[in-house]
Amino acid sequence: MKFNIAVLPGDGIGPEICAGAVKVLEKTGEKFGHAFSFTELPIGGAAIDGFGTPLPDFTVKGCLASDSVLLGAVGGYKWDKLPGDERPEKGLLGIRKALGLYSNIRPAKLWASLADASPLKSGLVKNGVDIVIVRELIGGIYFGERGRGEENGFEYAWDTEKYSVPEIERIARIACELAMKRGKKLVSVDKANVLESSRLWRRTVHEYAAKHYPEVEVTDVLVDNMAMQLVKDPAQFDVVVTSNIFGDILSDEAAQVTGSIGMLASSSLGDGTRGLYEPIHGSAPDIAGQDTANPIATVLAAAMMLRDSFGLNDCHRAIEAAVERTLAEGYRTADIYSKGCKKVGCREMARLICERI
Ligand code: NAD
Repeated sequence: MKFNIAVLPGDGIGPEICAGAVKVLEKTGEKFGHAFSFTELPIGGAAIDGFGTPLPDFTVKGCLASDSVLLGAVGGYKWDKLPGDERPEKGLLGIRKALGLYSNIRPAKLWASLADASPLKSGLVKNGVDIVIVRELIGGIYFGERGRGEENGFEYAWDTEKYSVPEIERIARIACELAMKRGKKLVSVDKANVLESSRLWRRTVHEYAAKHYPEVEVTDVLVDNMAMQLVKDPAQFDVVVTSNIFGDILSDEAAQVTGSIGMLASSSLGDGTRGLYEPIHGSAPDIAGQDTANPIATVLAAAMMLRDSFGLNDCHRAIEAAVERTLAEGYRTADIYSKGCKKVGCREMARLICERI
């Protein structure tokens, strides 16, 4: 099969980690008989320098013409003093909006060979951690009506959490699709004991799953309990779906449980199969250009693209297995290095993964 991938390297370590991920994609395509072609496009600070805007029109057009998008990271000291609307991060929000991406998917996986990186006691993570959090991205309290006023001589402020049935159904679809590809178990997180919007969320997720994905078993967990369970027994979770605000908080908590920011990927999806795949970390300007960055988060983002946008499950598994083997053989970039391991740079790590595909 043939796929056209838009690559947006961005700033800082973005170009290095994207180059590594592209090499892994090329090797995977070669091995499994697929043709991946790549169109590199500017975004963020690099686009500001070259074209005067963090998101040139031709970048949006290129992404819309692609089958899926791989992004490095944006931002850096050089552009820190620009006003909010002209900053590199504006390019990221802009491309998500232009592609109509309403879900954010964040896997938090603790690799067996990196178990020591978790801040949790080894007994709590001995069964591994492999959670995917599906967060609603463009609704809820972050986008609801808000305001300020004065009452009895005191200033007040308010925000609204509002969800409609179609908004909940479309995120439930994304979560159920993922659950079908994994353990067919879905945990829906809400605050239905207090919030009306959560009661609608809960009912809608159950009705939608029962109608369209009867094989998926849906369980509800209250958000306060979820925050506790994530550090008490993270191995019990597989796919988790939740609202924008709860997902924002819980996905960072789950990421921290794994302990290594250079290992975690994320994707944003909308209707259709085109998505935006990226590492969860930033552009790490402190180590840019030194060939020391960890490319694994971006490599895993590329692997997610093959599974979730292109349906190439075998390619996804092959990349994950190659990463697992590389780590098991003791190779580490500086950020995950521990005594007794073999320290390698960004390029070499990508090469080792390619060799093991
Ligand atoms: P960061 O994630 O870039 O870096 C935090 C720390 O983690 C740094 O010490 C960095 O060296 C290290 N690190 C991050 N990724 C690494 C990797 N792959 N390998 C090895 N070490 C890695 O976060 P920050 O320092 O807060 O932000 C730096 C810039 O990135 C800022 O301009 C910020 O706005 C931007 N940012 C962009 C995104 C994005 O593009 N999605 C996300 C977060 C931050």
